[in-house]
Amino acid sequence: MFRIAGQIIIFGFLYLLLPFYLSAFYAQGALVLFYFYLAVTTVSVILFKAYSGKKYYFAYQLQTVQEEMNVSGDTLRKEREKHDALQDKILRYRSLKQIVEELNKNLDMDYVAGELTAIAFSQICRSKGTCLLYLVDNSTQRLNLFKAKKEDKKLVIRTKEGDIFDFWVMRQATPLLIEDIGKDFRFDREKLRDRDLRPVGSLASAPFVAENRILGILRLDNPQANFFTQEDLRFLVNLSDLGAVALENSELFLRTQDLAIHDELTGLFTKGYFMERLKEECRRSLRQNASFCLFMLDIDRFKDYNDRFGHSAGDIVLKNMAKTIGEKLSGLSPLISRFGGEEFCVLLPGMEKPRGPGIADSLRKAIEEEKVLLRRQETHVTVSIGVAGFPQDGTGEEDLIRAADQAMYKAKQQGRNKVCPA
Ligand code: GH3
Ligand code: MG
Ligand code: MG
Repeated sequence: MFRIAGQIIIFGFLYLLLPFYLSAFYAQGALVLFYFYLAVTTVSVILFKAYSGKKYYFAYQLQTVQEEMNVSGDTLRKEREKHDALQDKILRYRSLKQIVEELNKNLDMDYVAGELTAIAFSQICRSKGTCLLYLVDNSTQRLNLFKAKKEDKKLVIRTKEGDIFDFWVMRQATPLLIEDIGKDFRFDREKLRDRDLRPVGSLASAPFVAENRILGILRLDNPQANFFTQEDLRFLVNLSDLGAVALENSELFLRTQDLAIHDELTGLFTKGYFMERLKEECRRSLRQNASFCLFMLDIDRFKDYNDRFGHSAGDIVLKNMAKTIGEKLSGLSPLISRFGGEEFCVLLPGMEKPRGPGIADSLRKAIEEEKVLLRRQETHVTVSIGVAGFPQDGTGEEDLIRAADQAMYKAKQQGRNKVCPA
């Protein structure tokens, strides 16, 4: 305040009072005053022009710098995005090694499928939307929903056999990326209405292909359009390639396991597997004070049958017999095994021994009545059955088998086509 007042006083003194005062001492004071003000005005105009020129120049410079800064900022942002995407890519591909290790940890199909779904959901879906793993049913060649990971836990997936996108991926055996479903005209608009009720804006899907065979598909979707990128699809394809190998390995493992416990001709349990289960049943029944029956069946004079009708006809008889035993005892939760060449062993859990011979006899009759047509000729076989009961005839698997076997030989001695209790 005082500074401004001081400045006004100095200004007034220098430009008004002093010139007027000084001019009073000279004869041509008015002329001197005129020249003084002329000089001051000229200098002021020059200074003002110089100043405003500089001002515009600086404003222009400032604008240019600002524009350059904007462009640089934009480039920097793009570079940063590129850098982040590259970083993501590096992380993803580095994780592939870990994924292979995880997938190789366990050959169980459920584990492998679970791992694949979890990885795709966290790394590609970024834990948003839905990730579904379908497997192809070998007998029907149809897709079956096997695993699902969803952002909305309450969401029910209705398309258990897949939708038109899944059929497309399966038929073409190629990956599919739909950035915006609303703008994709490859698919029939009408059929789009049949898909699940959840909103789908974008989708990425890849098949599991092993030796030209489709094992299943891994499909990801999100309600938002443009959620999945080409880079996401590339990673999904890598993941499904690894998944295909892991799924094929677990399929082979399952098949090997199945072969080890099932007899090839009849599909019944093998002797080894049956003995394991019998051992378990002995332990369980001991603990729970329960009973069970064991039947040992042997086809009568089967060597003669083979000699008369041929070995292939004998094989048909064995297959039919497995079916008959299964059907006849179906309500009794039986465990049936092909115990040897033409011998079968049956475990009936929870059955008291006194009930055993009656059940065995109705089975014997059913087998006797069963006919096998060979060259328009009706043929029949009969069986001899020995019945042992837990705990009366033993509490260990070996003792029980021995008891049932001995009872079966007794039935043979009594003329065959008979049932004998131990
Ligand atoms: P038994 O009444 O005393 O039991 O007489 P059997 O002729 O049935 O008994 P044996 O033990 O002498 O012969 C069993 C026959 O079972 C011999 C074999 O040819 C036949 N056999 C064993 N396994 C198979 C098979 O997988 N297929 C066929 N077709 N025959 C088999
Ligand atoms: Mg025999
Ligand atoms: Mg026999």
